Amino acid sequence: MSEETLFTKIINGDIPADIVYEDEHCFAIKDIAPKAPTHLLVIPKKPIPRLVDASAEDKALLGHMMLIVGEIAKKAGVDEAFRVIINNGEGVGQTVLHLHLHILGNKKFSEDSLGF
Ligand code: 5GP
Repeated sequence: MSEETLFTKIINGDIPADIVYEDEHCFAIKDIAPKAPTHLLVIPKKPIPRLVDASAEDKALLGHMMLIVGEIAKKAGVDEAFRVIINNGEGVGQTVLHLHLHILGNKKFSEDSLGF
């Protein structure tokens, strides 16, 4: 059996975290080292390592996560201005090999580029 990821351990209750959303497919937690005043992680319960590892069978799950982002952003009060980031691979800083979307809000980002 493959080893559980950090995020699987969190959703199983083995590692504490501030869980702000959960349904049967995914959950969201507050990032332990926030890069913005609002920094949440939306995570599928299925431990897909990286976005590039998702397959056609994950289509509904990925769509569900994108819809849930809006709901979570509204609940967090950042739906007027927030940024979503997915790091794919260690080369761009992915440190947890279990797919997750970062929601970053309440932070001033550059308005005309992806630089921040
Ligand atoms: P990545 O760099 O892989 O895109 O993002 C992983 C994120 O997980 C980082 O922003 C990091 O701060 C967060 N993180 C790492 N360990 C923990 C933890 O134990 N609890 C929580 N809530 N977040 C974590």
